[in-house]
Amino acid sequence: MRTPFIAGNWKMNTTVPEAVKLVMDMKTQLSAIKNVETAVCPPFVSLTAVKEALKGSDIRLGAQNMYFEDKGAYTGEVSPLMLKGLCDYVIIGHSERRQYFGETNETVRKKVQAAVKAGLRPIMCVGENLAEYEAGGSRDVVQKQLLTSLSGIDIPHDLVIAYEPVWAIGTGRAATGRQAQLVISLIRETVAGVYNTAFADGVRILYGGSVTGDNIAEFIGQEDIDGALVGGASLKPDQFISIVQQTAKVKNV
Ligand code: PEP
Repeated sequence: MRTPFIAGNWKMNTTVPEAVKLVMDMKTQLSAIKNVETAVCPPFVSLTAVKEALKGSDIRLGAQNMYFEDKGAYTGEVSPLMLKGLCDYVIIGHSERRQYFGETNETVRKKVQAAVKAGLRPIMCVGENLAEYEAGGSRDVVQKQLLTSLSGIDIPHDLVIAYEPVWAIGTGRAATGRQAQLVISLIRETVAGVYNTAFADGVRILYGGSVTGDNIAEFIGQEDIDGALVGGASLKPDQFISIVQQTAKVKNV
């Protein structure tokens, strides 16, 4: 039984006071929904304040990125050791990191490895871009991302995978539930090949890309989809709460 999981990626939005207000606006209602795990991933500078604001709730905290070295001359970077004890989760390899900051499957691999070593739970993002999608290459691209990013890593027990087709992120053009299910079942199969079936059956795989309160039911109703990584809609308390409520209802937890 995989616990459904909804994580909000706030991206580069919210000042520290805005981040605290956003979490306070959602905390009571989210806490009332049992058996769906939720997490918010604010910008680095708000992590401490949001952690404080989350006290007394089960809502988890995640970072949006980290570097793979523990410390050193890497100006502007944040290390796994700095996040350890502060966050539960860390998003790794988000397509915006790949697109604007040159992250590759190899840096994603190093980051996943470093997160696991530090006891952080990686939310590893994979997904094809528009050209790859239009050329019918979604499955090959995603499979390659997975095989490279998990290569040489011992079973990452706390791994969460987010399938985020790049063409669906922030565009308002979500995949269909069926499309997402097809790729996500392939992801599960690939993970089984890398590790084993028992691990693959337990690993949580999320869909991400223009998820809202209007379309979440379509995704969460699919057999292999265990939740969502939500960008834009996670900044709107009503939307995010509705996404979590519907997840509880559809998954019948
Ligand atoms: C994301 O940032 O991971 C994301 C899926 O964004 P959006 O929901 O806005 O498409």
